[in-house]
Amino acid sequence: MQQLNQHLAHTLKWLRTERQWSLSQAAQHTGVSKAMLGQIERGESSPTVATLWKIATGFNVAFSVFLALPETPAPALPQRNSTCAMFSQDQADMCVTPLFPYDARLGFDLFVIDFAPGALSESSPHEAGVIEHVIVLEGELELVVNGHGYHLNASEALRFQADVPHGYHNRTSQRVRIHDLIHYPVPGAVS
Ligand code: MN
Repeated sequence: MQQLNQHLAHTLKWLRTERQWSLSQAAQHTGVSKAMLGQIERGESSPTVATLWKIATGFNVAFSVFLALPETPAPALPQRNSTCAMFSQDQADMCVTPLFPYDARLGFDLFVIDFAPGALSESSPHEAGVIEHVIVLEGELELVVNGHGYHLNASEALRFQADVPHGYHNRTSQRVRIHDLIHYPVPGAVS
């Protein structure tokens, strides 16, 4: 966890320096408070996935820039304790592992995400044009997209426009494991 916080601190500072944004400007662009951004930069906060997404959207970067990348090629299966970035929220226990991190030529992130029993992760809208493809590998997932609920069993999949509020809920007593392929709009592409 400490390692992840240091990576987040470094990444956020680097992004802000690159944009030449003050903390106030970063707060305006991301909708995350100045105080919270400052805490993240000092490595004092363990931000939620939802907060990191707001920051990624505000800075117009892929979510995976916030996760330390594995040094070896993507493993066949995520190794929970070594490469997992565990996020604990009031109601959510989820583990996000980049399988194929963002590559600008390809325009997508592919994650393996584990949700503990009862986990609930709610996300504010991502950047316009972001599309998610959720494929359930194990367990049963409730997806809520813009207020509409979908129940997905193992091997079922859903693609949705992720520029609306959405959430992932494990209502069962078993772990849920999904692939989440996140497509980012290609800069300069006609839409
Ligand atoms: Mn999302």
